[in-house]
Amino acid sequence: MIKRLLIANRGEIAVRIIRSCREMGIETVAVYSTADRNSLHVRLAGRAVCIGPPAPAKSYLVKENLVMAALHTGCEAIHPGAGFLSENAEFARFAEEAGLVFIGPGAEVIELLGDKVRAREAAKRYGLPVTPGTGVVAPDPAGSRAAEEAALSMGFPVIIKAAAGGGGRGMRIVRRPEDLAENLSIARAEAEANFACGDVFIEKYLENPRHVELQILADGQGTTAVLGERDCTVQNNHQKLIEESPSPGITEDMRNTMISGALPVFRELQYRGAGTMEFLVEKDSFYFMEVNPRIQVEHPVSEAVSGVDIVRQQILSCTEGRMETGGGLLPLSGWALECRINALGPGTVTRLEVPGGPGVRFDSYLYQGCAVSPHYDSLAAKIIVHGPDRQATLARMDRALGELRIEGIQTNAGRQRWIVNHPVFTQGVFGVSWYAQALQAAGEAGTPP
Ligand code: ADP
Repeated sequence: MIKRLLIANRGEIAVRIIRSCREMGIETVAVYSTADRNSLHVRLAGRAVCIGPPAPAKSYLVKENLVMAALHTGCEAIHPGAGFLSENAEFARFAEEAGLVFIGPGAEVIELLGDKVRAREAAKRYGLPVTPGTGVVAPDPAGSRAAEEAALSMGFPVIIKAAAGGGGRGMRIVRRPEDLAENLSIARAEAEANFACGDVFIEKYLENPRHVELQILADGQGTTAVLGERDCTVQNNHQKLIEESPSPGITEDMRNTMISGALPVFRELQYRGAGTMEFLVEKDSFYFMEVNPRIQVEHPVSEAVSGVDIVRQQILSCTEGRMETGGGLLPLSGWALECRINALGPGTVTRLEVPGGPGVRFDSYLYQGCAVSPHYDSLAAKIIVHGPDRQATLARMDRALGELRIEGIQTNAGRQRWIVNHPVFTQGVFGVSWYAQALQAAGEAGTPP
């Protein structure tokens, strides 16, 4: 077992990783920007190293400083968490070249999967269905003409995506052929600015699909486990808000077909650690979207139904080439639901009462008196509940949200409770566009949540 690990992240996910390390007897080193000096992850870690000023580009995204901090403190491994450099192949390579274990599937696999166009091609080779779409659209008039032809043949609307995109950003929906060329150049400029790569491609836009994803764990030695699926269909602007497992929107048959399509891909890649294969589901069909080669925010719902500590298995598989689970679809029980609690602005938490009781888990970096910084993403806490079936789990989440009190900052907790009790959500039949439409309808009816 390794002795010491550096966590190249902050906030709730850094706290989550420290918790598993402590149980495994692994010492932890946190990193922090000057804005995070008093953050919970700094308090909980064995040691902490300041890596720069608040702006991520000068702290959490500076590869050299992170690797130096790890070497300087005698760490043997780096866990990148989610976000920041977690999908950055160069960072993985840099860490590996410095003799550190990168908790992830390795630079080459990250590189392949991080390029959505290459990942789609790989998925197609393995016989997975992908949405109709193009390769990278060449940035010249001939490229635009070819793109228009392709879009007309798949039918409008289409969605332009950044090949290197992520986090629900860098996508543009185009409904009319005459808007395509202009949107392609805007998308290219945005992709260049956000992801340092201007490559874009086009996909058929599905109007209101479900988002369903498989949680995978692999040891890099041939054992690949599936911890069932998560349904992340409640979204606002392509950002996930609520996740659950199992999905209320797929059949046993579809789940099995997805799994038997996904497993060979991970095996062939000699994948190690945690990964998520994402799909869009429309009626009886599903389409491969991408693989995220890292831990995801919504991993706790899979932990709840499988009883597996995903961070622990990630660390074991990447440092020792072993896992404590078998392969294939693991036994799962009950129903789990996660509500993301987002801060709607910065501030200081003046009062915090967290939910508890049977089947309730609260993952957060908040404490009474802590600062919520304007410099980072808005995720402040996650409430995860587990129950015997969907109805009982929804009632449990309603109860948990009712116990939560956060004062000093504004959060979306009230809206989350509104969703959990919404008749469409409780029936379970909806798509990714539903939430925005429901919100608008409530506003028009004069009853905004
Ligand atoms: P990211 O890598 O930024 O997370 P994804 O490719 O995973 O982006 O897509 C995120 C979300 O965008 C999906 O859950 C879905 O809501 C929407 N989306 C992506 N592709 C399509 C598509 N072809 N049709 C409709 N919606 C899509």
